[in-house]
This record gives sequence, structure tokens and C-alpha cells, in this order.
Amino acid sequence: MTARVLDGKATAAALREEIASEVSRWTDAGGPVPTLAAVLVGEDPASQIYVRSKERACGKVGMASRLIRRPAETTTDELLQLLADLNADSQINGILVQLPLPSGIDSQRVLDAVSPLKDVDAFAPENVGLLVQGRPRYLPCTPHGIMQILARYEFDLVGEHVVIVGRSNIVGKPLANMLLQRDIGFGAKMANATVTVCHSQSRDLAAITRTADVLVAAAGRPRLITADMVKMGAVVVDVGMNRSEDKLVGDVDYQAVSEVAAAITPVPGGIGPLTIAMLLRNTLTACKHQNA
Ligand code: NAP
Repeated sequence: MTARVLDGKATAAALREEIASEVSRWTDAGGPVPTLAAVLVGEDPASQIYVRSKERACGKVGMASRLIRRPAETTTDELLQLLADLNADSQINGILVQLPLPSGIDSQRVLDAVSPLKDVDAFAPENVGLLVQGRPRYLPCTPHGIMQILARYEFDLVGEHVVIVGRSNIVGKPLANMLLQRDIGFGAKMANATVTVCHSQSRDLAAITRTADVLVAAAGRPRLITADMVKMGAVVVDVGMNRSEDKLVGDVDYQAVSEVAAAITPVPGGIGPLTIAMLLRNTLTACKHQNA
């Protein structure tokens, strides 16, 4: 078997086109230009690249972005004040704090200071709670990207066993919460899954992953998922983005797993581009909510 490649780049381009049309309909009707503020603290090179690509993506769909840079020596209190100002600024619809923050800063306090209404990453406890209850305000970007690609390739998740490797607050846990719902806004086919979440303490990971109809790897461990861990005909989603010998590699041994799986997302060109597209979607949603 050679797996069908699920093209995240093309899916993200289609999503961006839809968002761009919606933005122009909104602004043509007199709505303000949706605006995202990105807070970048310090000089982390990867963070600078991510923030720049988010800014570029905003421009491509007709949205505005405001980059706020602060030196690595900035204190937690200074960032809290900055966020209070951004929360109060009616021209800013969405706020993202680029992670990781420098080690001297209390990241949790800073993230908690983003207004839930402008929390386009969907990290705020209030937004997490709404998602768990099945009535999300914003869908978290990476899990939302995963749902979008599966929906657009017309998979049916009802009753399927989805195994997620990784329990982070950014990927594993919110994805599990979305898949468990009766309907999360993609139609009933994209919900109602049976979900198992694995982590570093899970016993006999391979025995669990081999039972997956859909296997999502989000552990941040290069090529953790080998072919013997995948059931013949499974759908494999690789969220991992790991630098290895100056190359970007996923959490899945792509070549070998492609011989077993029915479908697979590549790295790069899989989930990565979708994450940014969903950030744009949330910024537009935020702007509409704030100007309803
Ligand atoms: P994280 O916060 O480091 O969480 C990793 C999770 O994987 C943890 O729950 C950890 O278990 C688990 N884990 C680690 N090693 C394991 C092993 N050997 N067996 C089973 N579970 C294991 O990472 P994250 O932020 O979720 O990111 C995961 C990966 O996705 C990274 O490569 C990241 O770069 C990538 N990512 C990509 C996108 C995108 O847009 N494509 C977005 C976000 C993240 P414990 O909880 O027990 O430690």
C-alpha cells in the first residue's frame, strides 16, 4: 500500500482564499479591517520566523497585523501592562503572544492576561472550558487545522478509534476534546470519535497505536512512529515539527509508514500551513464578534 498524501499546503491555500473572500465581503459592508497583534519578546530566531509568516499571512487575506517587539529583559509586569493596553485597544481584534517567552518571564500569567475575547490561540481557561462543553468561542489553531484537512478529504470519524500521541494543551488535549463532541461545527461526520490520548508514561505505546483507525502524532520526537506501530490502512496525521540535521522532520517515519497507511500528512507541507490559516479564521471571527 502506498498512502495517499494529504496536502496541507493546498488545503491551507483553499482556506486562505475562503477567508480572503469573507474579509472583503466584511470590509465592503463597512466592517473594520480585522487586526491581529503579535507580541514578540526577545530574539529567538524560530519565533521571529513564525511571527513574520503570521504577519505575511494576514496581509495575504486582507487583514492587518501589528508586531509589538520587546527585548528579552522585559519583565512580567511590563508585559501584563502591554496586554492590558492591547485588550483595551478597540482596533485590535486578536492577540497572540509568541511562545516560548524568555525564561525570566512568568508565561502562564502573561497568557492568562490576554482577554478571552481576543484570545485567537484559544489558550484562555474560559475558551478551553467552552470547548470542553462543546460550545467553542474559538477553535484552537493546530487541532482545528487537523479537523479541516480530515474534513476536506471527506473522512468519516464517527465511531473511529483516534489515537493521539501527546497530551499538550496546544495540540493533544484540545484535539481530543474536539473529536469527542457530537458536533463541533464540521457536521456529525467529523466528531463522535472514540479517543485515546497517549503520553510519555503510556505503557506499550505501539500496542495502543496499532489499534488506531486514525493516528495523530504530536509528541515532538523525530520519527517516533515507525511502520510496525501503524495498522494497515490507518490514516496518519503527523503534527511534529522537529529540526534534525538541519531538516524539518515529523514524528512519523514517513517513508516506511507510507507503505502501511492509507493516508498520511507530510512534514513539511502538512499540518504546519493549516495552523496559520486557522489563526486567520479566528481573527476574523473575533473581529465580527467585537463589531456585531
Ligand atoms: P509538548 O508540549 O512538548 O508535548 C509533547 C507531548 O508528547 C507530551 O504530552 C509528552 O508526554 C508526549 N511525548 C513525548 N515523548 C513521548 C513518547 N516517547 N511517547 C509518548 N508520548 C510522548 O509538544 P507540543 O507543543 O504538543 O508539540 C508536539 C509537536 O508538534 C512538536 O514537534 C511541535 O513542534 C509540533 N507542533 C506543530 C504545530 C504545527 O503547526 N504543525 C503546532 C504545534 C506543535 P508527557 O506529557 O508525559 O511529557
